[in-house]
Amino acid sequence: MRAIRTRSQERILNLLKTIKQGISAQDIYVELRNRNQTIGLATVYRSLEALKLDGMVQVRTLANGEALYGLVQQDKHHLTCLQCGVSIPINQCPVHELEHQLQNTHKFKVFYHTLEFFGLCNQCQTNQAVEISH
Ligand SMILES: [Zn+2]
Ligand SMILES: [Zn+2]
Repeated sequence: MRAIRTRSQERILNLLKTIKQGISAQDIYVELRNRNQTIGLATVYRSLEALKLDGMVQVRTLANGEALYGLVQQDKHHLTCLQCGVSIPINQCPVHELEHQLQNTHKFKVFYHTLEFFGLCNQCQTNQAVEISH
């Protein structure tokens, strides 16, 4: 089953397909403008909301509160550093199986899940160790 999409939604989906990481609504707006596909920021938000409820787009909120949008197919998880903000993708999903079980036991249609790990990256741990020793 395929929902009918507005032109704005199509443009946003096409953009998200070309972008590997998550992108903020503001940046989607700017990217589309750069491609001469001018749509209003309010329309970007409205389209993202519709795509989200359609199970096409997922939102990821960073430690600083910024919301990043991406296509739902990307079942990616990250290690996020609280110090420098670096976001390292991990190439495995530890809850894939659980998702299937939940869908069956609760008859719940799961569009996506989020799972994030927060802490200090290798570089920041090194910097911290240096600071303490001084
Ligand atoms: Zn770091
Ligand atoms: Zn996953």
